[in-house]
Amino acid sequence: MKSTKKAVLLITILLLTLFAMSFAGPKWRIHDLNRPNPVIINPGTSSTQDKPGLPPSDAIVLFDGKDLSQWRSMDGSAAKWIVKEGRMECVRGSGYIRTARNFGDCQLHVEFATPTPPEGSSQGRGNSGVFLMGIYEVQVLDNYDNVTYADGQCSALYGQYPPQVNACRKPGEWQSYDIIFHAPVFNVNKELVKPAIITVFQNGVLTQDHVELMGPTNWLRRDAYTYHAEKLPLSLQDHGNPVLYRNIWVRELPAPGPGEKAPRATYTLSPETLKSYTGSYSMGGPNAFLKVKLENDELLAAVSSDDFNPIYAETDTKFFSQKINLEFEFIVSNGKVTGADIWVAGGKMSVKKME
Ligand code: MG
Repeated sequence: MKSTKKAVLLITILLLTLFAMSFAGPKWRIHDLNRPNPVIINPGTSSTQDKPGLPPSDAIVLFDGKDLSQWRSMDGSAAKWIVKEGRMECVRGSGYIRTARNFGDCQLHVEFATPTPPEGSSQGRGNSGVFLMGIYEVQVLDNYDNVTYADGQCSALYGQYPPQVNACRKPGEWQSYDIIFHAPVFNVNKELVKPAIITVFQNGVLTQDHVELMGPTNWLRRDAYTYHAEKLPLSLQDHGNPVLYRNIWVRELPAPGPGEKAPRATYTLSPETLKSYTGSYSMGGPNAFLKVKLENDELLAAVSSDDFNPIYAETDTKFFSQKINLEFEFIVSNGKVTGADIWVAGGKMSVKKME
């Protein structure tokens, strides 16, 4: 009997605690003066037809009219689009271009102008595209007085969702996209747990309202999601039409709070460069070694174990782990990878690449 009473008392205390916890409320009290204020930024200025505006002070500028330093061809070689008079122009047949840097969740601002006088019709007129993560397209098209299918309109999530309205300006006039993108989320088994979500404003008008994408963009087909990295380059489409771009900037989301650091930038290198780092490295002894392999276009490294983790490029030769305090610098001599320096929690070891 005594033990039953004790058990009842314990259960009552437990239930009361859970009840109290459910009313614990958020971390901050209403109007809490200890709550940090948001970081102060300069919001920049709006563009006019004659002049691009200034980006917000915390944006990463991808194109300010000067050069293509932030852009590459898809294989990692120099971008072949042309820059003149403060804008870049898609060169027919030169291929898509992508950012050197990787992005996941973001706010992206892009300005574009379709060719004037217009040439071609339907999908053949002023076609390009903004690809989030190089995979999910917001269509760019001259849709001013140009009929095409609904899910291929300017501002469409191509092949999936037409825009809410056709908010296009005339060919040759500058138009803007303000895109809010949330990358798809995959679990440790590389299965999709949350689809990508896109919101688009074209020329300040809402055209896509927090839309869940069905999967990657394709033509005449809808593919299921397949696993990819958390961050990948943004790309712009070469669809054979000389579409112009200017004033491109991006803000990574969420913006860092007070006292928080912006996430470390990662870059996508060419597949050949990544491949050149794969293999086994040794210090001579059995306990200090490095193994590097490529999987799903990601470079994975295992230090003195078989526990492979993704490593991310910071420069052409410097990599880091986001999970463990590990830094890598591959040593390239006469175009050949000969070894690597590894910093394990700050302590350095050097390994030589095995033939
Ligand atoms: Mg397109």
